[in-house]
Amino acid sequence: MEQTRLAPLRPRVRPSWFVATVSEVRPETPTAVRLVLDVPGWPGSEAGSHLDLRLTAPDGYQATRSYSIASSETGGTIVLAVDELPDGEVSPFLVRELRVGDQLEVHGPLGSFFLWRPGQSQRPVQLIAGGSGVVPLYAMAASHAAASDPVPFRLLYSVRTPEDVYFHQDVLPSCRTGRSPSTSCTRDERQPDGGSRSDGSQNRLSRRGRSLRKTAHAFSCAVRQASSKPSRPGS
Ligand SMILES: Cc1cc2nc3c(=O)[nH]c(=O)nc-3n(C[C@H](O)[C@H](O)[C@H](O)COP(=O)(O)OP(=O)(O)OC[C@H]3O[C@@H](n4cnc5c(N)ncnc54)[C@H](O)[C@@H]3O)c2cc1C
Repeated sequence: MEQTRLAPLRPRVRPSWFVATVSEVRPETPTAVRLVLDVPGWPGSEAGSHLDLRLTAPDGYQATRSYSIASSETGGTIVLAVDELPDGEVSPFLVRELRVGDQLEVHGPLGSFFLWRPGQSQRPVQLIAGGSGVVPLYAMAASHAAASDPVPFRLLYSVRTPEDVYFHQDVLPSCRTGRSPSTSCTRDERQPDGGSRSDGSQNRLSRRGRSLRKTAHAFSCAVRQASSKPSRPGS
């Protein structure tokens, strides 16, 4: 039977509403941005957490959506990555209109089941992501690296094209060199007309994911990706 070393639990933080100020907006993929928020009083979050983000229009109309948290440190900074759904209500605003200095509200940290903490288990960890679903898994991989946790960590990541890799400075190099956390990228081949064609990678991903789940502690997350390709935000 597996011997499990449980890390000390971070005291459960009661989720609250906070006012966040946008401190950085940068293109993440052709359809997504990375948002860095300054949030005074934010208690930090465990890797895998998410939050609710609320926008309020000048006429008082409000819209709230959930976003995974890419950062897991304590302190007043939150990193998000938002993909634009061209026919969506909130994501096009976040991707195209949000500017440094803008304010919005966040409620969190949320989520208690989809979490990874250093020392949680001695079983290897297999992360399986599609598109922006890599965001909470990136937080887990970063937390694993920061803690020098000895448990093997692997990421199996499905994206449409190499440009659709989130956090590519961290994820794609490890994909190329295979260093820890070792990463495999499955992807469709881009067609000359700008569309894409399945190369069977989704089926391979699904088969490989099923076999990995038998031995590893698996976390899988996929969020619907944009179906068309607007031009890069800000360009
Ligand atoms: C826990 C969690 C974590 C998440 N993390 C991330 C993340 O890290 N990054 C990220 O980009 N996204 C994430 N999401 C998704 C995010 O919450 C939003 O769903 C996404 O940004 C789309 O919001 P939107 O307002 O642009 O689209 P919406 O306006 O909500 O529309 C979504 C889709 O539904 C369709 N739709 C809307 N209304 C109707 C209707 N009445 N009838 C039929 N179809 C309709 C729209 O056409 C669109 O295709 C997460 C979701 C959850 C639950």
